[in-house]
Amino acid sequence: MKWTKTLIQTLREVPADAEIDSHKLLVRAGLVRKVAGGLYAYMPLGMRTLRKIQQIVREEMDRSGAQEIVAPILQPAELWRTTGRWDAMGANMFRLSDRGEHEFALGPTAEEVFTDLAKGVLNSYRQLPVIIYQIQWKFRDETRPRFGLMRSKEFLMKDAYSFDMDADGADKSYWTMYHAYERIFARCGLKAVPVQADGGDMGDSLTHEFHVLADAGEDGIAWCEKCGYAANLERAERRVESAADAECAPCEEVATPDARTIEQVAAFMGLAPSAFVKSLVYVADGKCVMVCVPGDRDVNEVKLKRFLGAKNVALADNGAVLAATGANAGFVGPVGPADAQMRIVADLSLKGAAGRIVGANRDGFHLKSVSLARDTRLADADYADLTIVKAGDACPHCGGAMEIKRGIEVGQVFKLGTKYSAAFNAVYKNDKLEEKTMIMGCYGVGVSRTLQAIIEQSHDKDGIVWPSAVAPYSVVVELLDPSVPDVAKVAEDIELALEAKGIDVIVDDREERPGVKFKDADLIGFPVRVVVGAKGLAAGGVEIKRRDEAKDKTRIVAPAAAADTVAGIL
Ligand code: ATP
Ligand code: MG
Repeated sequence: MKWTKTLIQTLREVPADAEIDSHKLLVRAGLVRKVAGGLYAYMPLGMRTLRKIQQIVREEMDRSGAQEIVAPILQPAELWRTTGRWDAMGANMFRLSDRGEHEFALGPTAEEVFTDLAKGVLNSYRQLPVIIYQIQWKFRDETRPRFGLMRSKEFLMKDAYSFDMDADGADKSYWTMYHAYERIFARCGLKAVPVQADGGDMGDSLTHEFHVLADAGEDGIAWCEKCGYAANLERAERRVESAADAECAPCEEVATPDARTIEQVAAFMGLAPSAFVKSLVYVADGKCVMVCVPGDRDVNEVKLKRFLGAKNVALADNGAVLAATGANAGFVGPVGPADAQMRIVADLSLKGAAGRIVGANRDGFHLKSVSLARDTRLADADYADLTIVKAGDACPHCGGAMEIKRGIEVGQVFKLGTKYSAAFNAVYKNDKLEEKTMIMGCYGVGVSRTLQAIIEQSHDKDGIVWPSAVAPYSVVVELLDPSVPDVAKVAEDIELALEAKGIDVIVDDREERPGVKFKDADLIGFPVRVVVGAKGLAAGGVEIKRRDEAKDKTRIVAPAAAADTVAGIL
């Protein structure tokens, strides 16, 4: 392929809305063009890489026995109503109606559609297990679309769904997909690590997210170098010791005017935040709950929700806080709040805590010398691990000190149990002709997000450094003297020789200064560059260089040997 025949447009200037390197490079290298916020067109170079990633995904899915289908993006509301998700998805789902006023969603995912399909075609144990997948555009009305393809309104996802007879089968399907994901990301040249994630509505259900570790990642990950424990901060646990403080003097009210936050009261009293108990009022499924954590820690709402077994958990508004405690936020605490029925729960590290300072449930006052066992109605069952893990916390498995890393979620595998199959009554007949509900799993790869995650993980100051499996072209031949027929002929021969070996190559035949051409090649990031120029040929050959090598590291080879050398490098 000749450069002058392709639609490649690189940009010098950095797009104004790009905050992270991969987003800047994606646009500057001309892989995509922004159509509107969160919406991108894939230009020829971007499209080539997208197709290569899709192909890897497809091959690994097929290899693991999954079968490809494609389902409509436009999904009827009835399917979503069957599981109650028409309402539960809220503003994240794009909705529209046809001329007959039938409601539809632009699919943000496809559990409902696939379960309904499976119900229609699967009815006997003889047909199971089955894994079906599609590579299809998904739509989500994200609160904050940003970072280019990382969080867009329209994105390409591979979604797979497994249907099994029993829990053992579902387990097997889960690990089959898990291992397929390991191969997919490895083949894309990505280091993606599986981390334990939260099961969301599915509670304790087994699920792993695959993360590309990068500072630009939106997710926090608790990481134990010692034993390999890795978990999304949403669900990460820590080894918590009870406080076991010495008993303290009776508690006593102290005036703390204008000091509302822990930091303010701590500064006012000249004590460390850890001497305080932070008390927050939440509303869990309509009921107020007070949550107490050490003053230097934050509540993990996902863990809280799971511990309470609640569907919805959110901070209470001012009116509710006042009614439940008798004070405004900032002065509330677990000792005798106004609502004597309100449940109080606390982080396990506060069990046995004494001599602590808490809000007095009276504006402008705190209580000191509080013993939680003596002065509150917290019972053993009200203590649990409820805080967000911090760097240095003890690993729940080995006790080692954990680090906090940032990650980009590129895929997720998820055991669904019978949540969807039960709602759709997706059953099969077993060998005794009894009806049984199918057990499901779902498995997503963010194909377009993966494209950008590769750039985030693999770039330098000059541009992208593509792993060769997913580069738009594996090789660029820099033809420095396109108007000299003999030189152009050498470039053409190398192009043909590479193509004969199945290596995709682009010949930069533009009448531009070498500096401009090399800069573009580095920006786009072709894995191998072959320089063909009159001067070089006169001196004995063409110059071959890998993108990820130092600038001065080149090989000079005879034109006839170029294709073999390149193939060897790739
Ligand atoms: P996130 O937590 O990042 O919002 P998610 O957990 O909601 O993602 P899933 O429902 O698990 O996403 O979707 C499967 C995959 O699709 C994700 O692992 C991610 O790679 C990709 N993905 C999800 N939302 C987006 C988006 N807005 N833009 C691009 N890719 C996305
Ligand atoms: Mg996910």
